[in-house]
Amino acid sequence: MKKIYLDYAATTPLALEVKKAMEPFWSNFFGNPMSIHSFGKEARSEINKARETLANYFNMEKEEIIFTSGATESNNLAIRGTAKGILNYINSHPDNVDLEDKKVSNFTAHVVTTAYEHHCIMDVVKELEKEKTIEATFVKPDGNGIVHINDILNSVKPNTIIVSIMYVNNEIGTINDLEKIGALVKKVLSKREERAKKKGKEALPIYFHSDITQGVNYLDPDMNKLGVSLFSLSGHKIYGPKGVGALGVKNDVLIEKIQLGGSQEFDLRAGTHNVTGIIGIGSAIERVKNNRKEEAKRIASLRDYFLERIKKEVKGILINGSIESRVANNLNISFLGTEGESLVLFLDKAGIACSTGSACSSGSLESSHVLLSTGRSHPEAHSSIRFSLGEKTTKEDIDYTARKIKESVEYLRKVSGYRK
Ligand code: PMP
Repeated sequence: MKKIYLDYAATTPLALEVKKAMEPFWSNFFGNPMSIHSFGKEARSEINKARETLANYFNMEKEEIIFTSGATESNNLAIRGTAKGILNYINSHPDNVDLEDKKVSNFTAHVVTTAYEHHCIMDVVKELEKEKTIEATFVKPDGNGIVHINDILNSVKPNTIIVSIMYVNNEIGTINDLEKIGALVKKVLSKREERAKKKGKEALPIYFHSDITQGVNYLDPDMNKLGVSLFSLSGHKIYGPKGVGALGVKNDVLIEKIQLGGSQEFDLRAGTHNVTGIIGIGSAIERVKNNRKEEAKRIASLRDYFLERIKKEVKGILINGSIESRVANNLNISFLGTEGESLVLFLDKAGIACSTGSACSSGSLESSHVLLSTGRSHPEAHSSIRFSLGEKTTKEDIDYTARKIKESVEYLRKVSGYRK
């Protein structure tokens, strides 16, 4: 049977060049990069080359790239680590920071994020709230799945320390305007600095963090230009290996490690380096650098063709998220009168792999928090499917899939008694 993979947002296959680059590091160059002997030096020099590759690609300094086990860890470190870093700084320098009429003893920090982040942001923020380390505001996107700059501005308070807004939503693929958000955060900081200067104090920092995991393959990587101080990504979403990721973090950010142990990664991430994985993510970024623009065009035109076919052949659908401001490879559609999980299983029987929402929560029968945040009802959210295209997707795959969708939706609607 034909097998078609349309779940590249869940994970991507390891690219051959990446696999080749990684191979010598399993057994030949196996040294621990923290060792001072030649084996260690060899490994250290190679991970530093990968660090340089990422730093150049994202327009950061070399020491601003921290290797982690993936975007989940990077996001945990970004949020928890900066909250810890800033609060410890304030507590140890109680007279230095201008807290705008608040005393250190009754100061609570505030975090702005969105209502449709990945759970590895949302749950960290909620837990910090529960611990009373911070308070938080979850900004809702609009009906098109875009977070508005004014809603962010209205949520920022004198005690806000982090604004965390994802580049691309993993379920609906919509893109947020990082450059505008970056400029807004800079403006807030400049105002704070002016005020603090008058009092002879330092301003309370405010950092812009973005989870760029789903944007790396297709979007502008210049984090300096976009005004991003911290960003998270994962190797396996960019044709690299699983179990490796990175956190970009500007030198001036007050951040502390959250996993204790060794002093690896500029003392921000304890634990022996995943050398092979780090070589892999470096090589994967090299590929993105070379292929990004062309591949984005090719995939977007295939995706648009796919959407036109579905629109023509299946009635009673809702397209979730803006089509204009959307990453090249994503399509998220509600097929009204069907159950998303059943449709995924039907398509799987026909050899097609796609998903409902994100792979991480597809074991749960709760409606997608992403779709609900954009104003979709529970039944609309339950009938949604995410298709995500990738490097191996062809027009033939799309034609076959469109045909199978039509057949499956017709069948499922017949058995559910759906009427328009
Ligand atoms: N953020 C986003 C936007 C994602 O899509 C994912 C993966 N689904 C993650 C974070 C987590 O990545 P990982 O599982 O590789 O840690």
